Amino acid sequence: MATPFTLPSLPYDYDALSPVISKETLEFHHDKHHQAYTDNLNKALDGLAEAEGKSLEDIFATISTFPKAVRNNGGGYWNHIFYWESMAPASEAGEPSPELAAAIDADLGGMDAFKTAFEQAGVTQFGSGWAWLIFTDGKLKVINTPNQDNSLMDINPDKGTPLLVNDVWEHAYYLDYQNKRPAFLGAFWPIVNWNKVNERFAAAQG
Ligand code: MN
Repeated sequence: MATPFTLPSLPYDYDALSPVISKETLEFHHDKHHQAYTDNLNKALDGLAEAEGKSLEDIFATISTFPKAVRNNGGGYWNHIFYWESMAPASEAGEPSPELAAAIDADLGGMDAFKTAFEQAGVTQFGSGWAWLIFTDGKLKVINTPNQDNSLMDINPDKGTPLLVNDVWEHAYYLDYQNKRPAFLGAFWPIVNWNKVNERFAAAQG
């Protein structure tokens, strides 16, 4: 176990995603919220024999056997790193690879239908959680998860490899969008790091 876990820096400047996400939101979200998940994960794993020698991904595969604090803070730690890397400044965001675009057409009915489904997954997640694009059973699928759960966890009804995520906890958007979660989800697309999503998709296909 590579404990203690440390908080990685954002892969871009705090103002790099503006105006979709403000500098102030990223400062609070990364420096306060993500830091808290990091610290609380380390506390939750301290002295926990069953975590010895396991990666976080290994732990997620049997998360039902771990204390709730490991699920919540391990998910919070991992999901946020995945989220930061899912985004890029609009000028560096790239576009879906031909392979990914073809899969979006075949499995999700095209880019417009995918965007609608992804935004809807975020809007309909009651309370806090996440909207995801995952790869499962050889196909793309749009899902949502509550709290800090993800599709690598054995407790999640939808298992699969995460490709893209958006955070629909209020802390992700309240300073910029107040209660307007649909507006936040709709504004997401110019800062999707397609280069990273393409890379994840290629890796997931093996
Ligand atoms: Mn968050």
